Formats: sequence, structure tokens, C-alpha cells
Amino acid sequence: MRWSLSLGSIGGTEIRIHVTFLLFLVWLAAIYYRAGGPEAAWQGTIFIALVFLCVLLHELGHVFAARRYGVKTRDVTLWPFGGIASMERMPEKPSQELIVALAGPAVNVVIAAVLLLWLGTSLDPQNLTAIENPTVSLAAKLAGANIVLVLFNMIPAFPMDGGRVLRALLAMHVGNARATELAASIGQGFAVVFCILGIFYNPVLIIIAVFIFLAASGEAAQAQLRAVAQGALVSDAMITKFQSLGTSARVGDAADALIRTTQTEFPIVDESGRLRGVLTRDTMIKALKERGPDTPVLEVMQTDIPTVPARAKLDTAVRLLTEKELPVVGVTDAEGRLVGLLTVENLGEMMMVHTALPKTYRASERFFR
Ligand SMILES: [Zn+2]
Repeated sequence: MRWSLSLGSIGGTEIRIHVTFLLFLVWLAAIYYRAGGPEAAWQGTIFIALVFLCVLLHELGHVFAARRYGVKTRDVTLWPFGGIASMERMPEKPSQELIVALAGPAVNVVIAAVLLLWLGTSLDPQNLTAIENPTVSLAAKLAGANIVLVLFNMIPAFPMDGGRVLRALLAMHVGNARATELAASIGQGFAVVFCILGIFYNPVLIIIAVFIFLAASGEAAQAQLRAVAQGALVSDAMITKFQSLGTSARVGDAADALIRTTQTEFPIVDESGRLRGVLTRDTMIKALKERGPDTPVLEVMQTDIPTVPARAKLDTAVRLLTEKELPVVGVTDAEGRLVGLLTVENLGEMMMVHTALPKTYRASERFFR
């Protein structure tokens, strides 16, 4: 990811800080400095840095819980608005998703509990919320911040952890697809309420509302895609009319093909019909600019493109495509020759067709089988 610095990695997960987060710290330090001089600036900045350490530990709670179920996480990035863990996927089983979703807030519960125990009787409950008061001890403020983190994250709306908890609990009773639909609607309901509250009280709520609304629709679309993919075969969804390039082709030939077709990914296929790699529009343009039209496509193509048999189940291919964020997956016949392509875009089209069909068609799956 660009514009972010790596702090090292923990158990195969890279910890990154986005540049905007550092700017955010500088900005806060300046505000504290103007209000109370250098000492206030230090105290304020240390407090915010500690809060974000708790946010990081929260994300790592999710990461390590997910790892128990074989789900890897490439990195955790700290942004001014919080941490984002780029998990490959959520575990399919509702009970596992429940544990992964709860693991984050549980970390903050533990931190708050330890701080409160340590503070013991010296704690005045009012101090927990007095974040801007310099006379309140750092430990009390930090305990308060962790309690706020738990409450905020447990709001039952995607992409909050509470939304995932709600979905997992619903899925145990009504099945995955219906549970996501319900949880997404509830999330969007919350978004509307936040938006109205934001207009009257705090504009930050409007930003959160937009975030929740988009995440909820994205989540619903993905669940729908999974539901459509279930029971269908790769051959039902693949593109069969496409242009491929030979192993002797040059980037200039690829650019010609780009203009003449509506394709944006071009498979490179050898004489025996096997997929050797894929050239995407972006890499093509980059190669054209940096190395010229005579560059062999073999030298610039992406080679880590997996293939699936045409008779394979569609959901496994969908998982491959979305988890690894690939531009395309190749589809092969029994002899291993390339016969089709699968892209996120054409899966989207398949879904549009599917949702436009009357329910009776969907139920019997006559269209796709
Ligand atoms: Zn979380």
C-alpha cells in the first residue's frame, strides 16, 4: 500500500501506519500546544498514541482469532479514523465469525479491566470521560477510551464488529444469505439514524453514516454473489469469447488488441493452448510508456494467475478471485487448455442477470444449469 510506513510484522501480518495518521498526530500536537504549551502537546500526543496502540491490539485480536480458523491477514494499517485489518475473508461458519468479531472488542475489555483494577479505589467514574482534562490520570483516560472503543465497535451495523456479531447470530437461525440481508438492512437503518443525528449534533456522524451505508451494501452484494455462485459451475459464468495473445506477441500488439476489443485483461497462451500469464491494461500502458511497444509480453505479464477446470464449482473460483484480488482467473478444459476467463466484472454481470430473473427461475436454477 502506498503512503504507508511499515513498522515490522507480527506472526506474518505487517503492521503499517498511514502517512495521514502521522499528519493527524502532528495536527493534534499543534492543537494541544496552542491550548497548553509544550507539556500539553506531549501529554496529548502520548495519550492519542496510546489509544491507537489499543486500536492496534484490537485489530490483532481479530487477526489472531481468524488465524485459528486458517484465515491469513496481510497487514493491519492504522488510519486517523482507526485500524483496518486486510483479512483474506471471514470464516464461513457463523460460530467462527462470531469469535473473530468478538475477539477485537474483547481485547479492549481486558485492557480497560486491567487499568481499572490497577487504579482501584482511587478512580472517580467521572474521570473516565474527561479526556481533555489534563489533571485526570493517563490510566483513567485510557480506560475510558477503551470502554468507548468497545461501545462504538459493538454498534450492530456493518462494518462495525457488532454488525458481524449480529450477522453471525442471525446466520445460526436463518442461514448465511438471509442473515447478511437482514444485518445489512439493520446497518443501513443505523446509517440513516446517524445521518439525522449528525445534522443536528455532530457532522462526524454523517461521515460514519456514509461509511456504514456503503459497507453494508458492499457486504450485501458479496453475500448475494456467494448465494448465486453456490450450485453453479465455473462454465456457467465464464467469458468464452475473448482475444488471447501468443507467446511471441509484443506490448504494441497487446495495445492494438486493447483498442479493438472491450477487453481489459489479455491472456497469453502458448502453442499447446495453455495459459502462461495475463497482461492487464494498467501493466500494458506502464510497459508501453517505460519500455516501448517492442517489449515482449512474456517479460511484463503477470504470471501468478491460477486456473480452474470449467466443471469446477463456481464458489471456489469466486473465492480465488476475491481473496487474492486477482484481475482474472483462467478456466481450462480437461486437457488443460484455456477455454474461458472469469473476472469480477463478469461475475457482477452474472449477478445482475440473476437478480433480474423472476424468482421461479432463480429457485429452479433453470437459467444456469
Ligand atoms: Zn474490530
